[in-house]
Amino acid sequence: PVITRFAPSPTGLLHLGSLRTALYNYLLAKNTNGKFILRLEDTDQTRLHPEALKNIFDTLKWCNMEYDEGPIEQSQRLPIYQEYIKKLLKSGHAYYCFCSRERLEQLRTGNMAPGSLSYDRKCIHLDEETIKVNLDKGIPYTIRMKSPERYPLIHDLLHGELNIQPNNREGMWFDDPILIKSDGFPTYHFANVVDDHLMKVTHVIRGEEWLPSTPKHVALYQYFGWAIPKFIHIPLLTSIDDKKLSKRKGDFSVFGLKEQGILPEALINFCALLGWSPPRNVAQETHECFTLDELERLFNLNHLTKGNVKVDYKKLWFFNKHHLQHKLSEKESFNEILNEIMENMIEEKKYERTTDLEGKISTVLTECGSALSKIGEFNELFWYFFERPTYSNKLVSDFLKSHNVEELKKILQLLSENVTKMDLPDMVNEISTTLKIKKKPIFESLRYALTGLHPGVKLPIIIKILGKEECQSRIVASMK
Ligand code: GLU
Repeated sequence: PVITRFAPSPTGLLHLGSLRTALYNYLLAKNTNGKFILRLEDTDQTRLHPEALKNIFDTLKWCNMEYDEGPIEQSQRLPIYQEYIKKLLKSGHAYYCFCSRERLEQLRTGNMAPGSLSYDRKCIHLDEETIKVNLDKGIPYTIRMKSPERYPLIHDLLHGELNIQPNNREGMWFDDPILIKSDGFPTYHFANVVDDHLMKVTHVIRGEEWLPSTPKHVALYQYFGWAIPKFIHIPLLTSIDDKKLSKRKGDFSVFGLKEQGILPEALINFCALLGWSPPRNVAQETHECFTLDELERLFNLNHLTKGNVKVDYKKLWFFNKHHLQHKLSEKESFNEILNEIMENMIEEKKYERTTDLEGKISTVLTECGSALSKIGEFNELFWYFFERPTYSNKLVSDFLKSHNVEELKKILQLLSENVTKMDLPDMVNEISTTLKIKKKPIFESLRYALTGLHPGVKLPIIIKILGKEECQSRIVASMK
C-alpha cells in the first residue's frame, strides 16, 4: 500500500507551499486507499515556534485533511535514533567528531573549503581509546556521516535520474553531514530517513528545495541496506512577477489567507493546481473547480508539472467566489454562512438578534449573494438593506451638484407618491411622461433615495427586499 507523510518542522506558521506538500501527500494516499501520516520534525530545538504546532493542527483541520496516523513527534523518539546511530558507528559509516565550534568556524572561514565541503575529517581517524576518554571527559561531540566517495544517483518520479554532488570533491574537504547534534538530537537528515524507513513510507512528496538533501538520504538508505522510497520533488512556488515567495508577507501564511476571507475549499482547489493539472477532459467540464472529494478521486502522479509555478492570487479569488456560490446553493452551508454573517453584524454593528434580522439576511443572500466573493464583504456591499443611508457621502454631494435641484425635488415627490402603488417600470414611465424627462435621472434619483447611491444591486430587487413602505419613507427622508 502507498504510505505518505506530511513532515513539517514546527518553526513557523504554515504557508502555501507546505499546504500544497501536505495536500499532494494526502491526495496520493486517499487516491490509492493508502495511509497518510502526520510527523512533526521538531528536532531543531532552537527553531521551534510556540504557535507552530497548533497552527499545523488547525490548518489541517480547517482544510478537512485528516491524517490516518500521528501526530508523531520526533522529539519523543530520541532512543530510536540513538539505537540506529549505533549501527552506523559500528559499520563505520558514521563517526564521532569532537572538534570545537571555534575550530569548525576557522575551517569555514579559512576560505579553503569550497561551499558545502567544510570539514577536513580530522576526527575520522580517532581510535577507540581516545573516543572513550573524550566521552568520559564529557567533551561535546557530534556524530557525522562518512559521506561516500560519490553520492549515488537519485531517482525522482518527476525529474528522472539526477546526479547531485555537493561540490567537486578534490582535495581534503568533505561535507560529512552531522547526524546527531551536540545536544543529542538527530538532525533533519538522520531522523527523516530513519522515520521514513520505520514508518514504511513509500512515497516522499516534498518541495524542490529539498533536492540537495536527497543524495545524503539515499546514501543513508544504502548504508543501512534499506529500501529507498520513491521521491517526488515538486516545483517551487514563485510570485506572479517570478520572485521567490516571501514568507514575510502576511498573505503567504495559510491563516493570513483565511483572515482575508478565503474559504478552505477554495484554497485546497487552488493549491491542488499549483503543480498538478487534472486530466484535460475533466478540466474542460468543470473549469478546474474541484472539491476535496473530487480531487481525491482524480489525483495521480502522472499530471504533475516540472517548472516553477506562479502563484496568481487572482485565481484564488476566482475559486473563492466559485466555492462560495456553491455553498450558498446548498441548504446546510447556506445556513452556516447566514449565521456567520448574523454573528458578525451583531458583534460589529450591535444589531439585536431577531428573526427579522435573520429573515432579511436570508433574503439578501438569496437575492444578491451572487455578487459576493467572500463572506466578509456582505456588510460592505449590502449594509443599506439594514439601515437607512445618510445622504451625506461624497457620491451624494457630487450627484446633487450635477443635478437640477428643482427637477430632483419633483422626481422625488412623484416617486414618493407612487412607489407604494405602482411597479417600477410603470412608475418610471409615468414620471417620465409627466415631467417630460428621460428615464435615466429617475432611476438615479431612486437609487439616491433608497441607497445613498450605493451601486450594485438592481432597483427592482432593492424595492423587493426593502418593501414599498420602507422605500416610501426613504424617499421622503431623502427630500429633507
Ligand atoms: N521537515 C521538513 C520540512 O519542514 C520535511 C522535508 C521532507 O519532507 O523531507 O519540510
